[in-house]
Amino acid sequence: MKDLSNRPDLPAEIARRRTFAIISHPDAGKTTLTEKFLLFGGAIQMAGQVRAKGEARRTRSDFMKLEQDRGISVSASAMSFEFGPYRFNLVDTPGHSDFSEDTYRTLTAVDAAIMVIDGAKGVESQTRKLFEVCRLRDLPILTFCNKMDREARDTFEIIDEIQENLAIDVTPASWPIGMGRDFLGCYDILNDRLELMDRADRNRVAESIKIEGLDDPKLAQHVPAEQLSKLREELEMAKELLPAFDRKSFLEGHLTPIWFGSAINSFGVKELMSGIGDFGPEPQPQTAAERQIAPEEGKVAGFVFKVQANMDPKHRDRVAFVRLASGHFERGMKLLHVRSKKPMAVSNPVLFLAADRELAEEAWAGDIIGIPNHGQLRIGDALTEGEALKFTGIPSFAPELLQNVRAGDPMKAKHLEKALMQFAEEGAAKVFKPSIGSGFVVGVVGPLQFDVLASRIEIEYSLPVRFEQSQFTSARWVTGPKADVEKFVNANKGHIAHDHDGDIVYLTRLQWDIDRIERDHPALKLSATKEMM
Ligand code: GDP
Repeated sequence: MKDLSNRPDLPAEIARRRTFAIISHPDAGKTTLTEKFLLFGGAIQMAGQVRAKGEARRTRSDFMKLEQDRGISVSASAMSFEFGPYRFNLVDTPGHSDFSEDTYRTLTAVDAAIMVIDGAKGVESQTRKLFEVCRLRDLPILTFCNKMDREARDTFEIIDEIQENLAIDVTPASWPIGMGRDFLGCYDILNDRLELMDRADRNRVAESIKIEGLDDPKLAQHVPAEQLSKLREELEMAKELLPAFDRKSFLEGHLTPIWFGSAINSFGVKELMSGIGDFGPEPQPQTAAERQIAPEEGKVAGFVFKVQANMDPKHRDRVAFVRLASGHFERGMKLLHVRSKKPMAVSNPVLFLAADRELAEEAWAGDIIGIPNHGQLRIGDALTEGEALKFTGIPSFAPELLQNVRAGDPMKAKHLEKALMQFAEEGAAKVFKPSIGSGFVVGVVGPLQFDVLASRIEIEYSLPVRFEQSQFTSARWVTGPKADVEKFVNANKGHIAHDHDGDIVYLTRLQWDIDRIERDHPALKLSATKEMM
């Protein structure tokens, strides 16, 4: 068996886990790659056909998209599958192209990310944004340069662009031979193999030929002379110009290995998967305000990084996704819900094995489990075996765009309230109920979030809604001594609202107002973001 980690002291079950996300710009091939992962992970039998591009396609998670478009049941934001000696946990990042809070939070639950780029387009805007979030956490990044079966850019140019644009060193794990119509396959630099693409069957893995160095005569049997001399020349140059693979610098997030391939042709996918497995990282320590939580600690601790409602519209259930930071979890365990200080029996946790939801009998540090609940579990909540931990690093975002929302049918105002509260709990938007008047003010960080919300309210609650310009442009949470807050609220009724937790928010359109309040009421604190706990 391979050395599963550079942490031989870790329990084997933890050491073999790899928890990661895929980041990319829309259309680079994330869904296709995910599908091939599941195929090679034994989670699905056959990859489906190319789907139609519908309007709603980016409004929900990519896994749901997979489910709807290809008729395979994945139904989750996190999926687990086996690959060789490894257990992979792939956490979905939502697909829509706007700035997404959800995506940022998702990245707090993983130990590594795969960056997929389109070989013809290189580093695109959304990739760059997501990459920056990964960098904030020094996440190790593996790069997959997709669509090599199409006309792509010159290999050095692609690598240069990543290095320049993202300020990260790039080391080739494989090297493409030809491109577009002439794309033959890759030279696997890390394992000295020739990988040839099978164009006839998209779900078949390519032929793999062991090669003894670049002078091996076997190369000439498979690669035409012209392409071979180009390959030799380029590899020579790559060796001179580019850094060699170095695991430490990869794990620290300074160096990304790049694989070239074609997800739709299943080409390069297995090599990438082996890369994640062999180079890691294994589950990493997580940071709480009190201390670092090491994965091998005996006691279970975990945090909620995502809440998803209406996974099954018939049941209106909610699932909180928990990243286990430490320990060995077993079904039925009683854990402390730190925020409410109440014990919680976790009797029907779900693990998302692509075939379907399955009851999780056990889970280990690094795993993601889903806990069905009726709203007790919120983003940022900690579950432990008794210790009052507060996990840090789950970002909260200032709502920068405010709009009023109304139900198309005024009789349905109560329904609307329910829908909005649910999205607020999911962390999909901030919802404020002004203390004067009817209706709600919704706050988001990117304009597309309004469209996503409107479409979800319509689909999940059969409720057409209208978003309209709000008279307010800024929201600030008000905290301070009770008497001061009360006095302030009474004197500013027209500006006061409550969020879904009942906390007090001051709405205004003038920065000047905020400055004035801070000056006149030194006891009060106005914050643009609200702590998740
Ligand atoms: P996503 O938006 O990143 O999830 O991208 P998709 O996986 O939906 O892929 C976008 C489009 O690119 C789809 O039409 C895919 O069929 C196509 N595509 C994905 N991978 C490849 C590839 O390796 N080669 C080619 N030619 N097309 C691909």
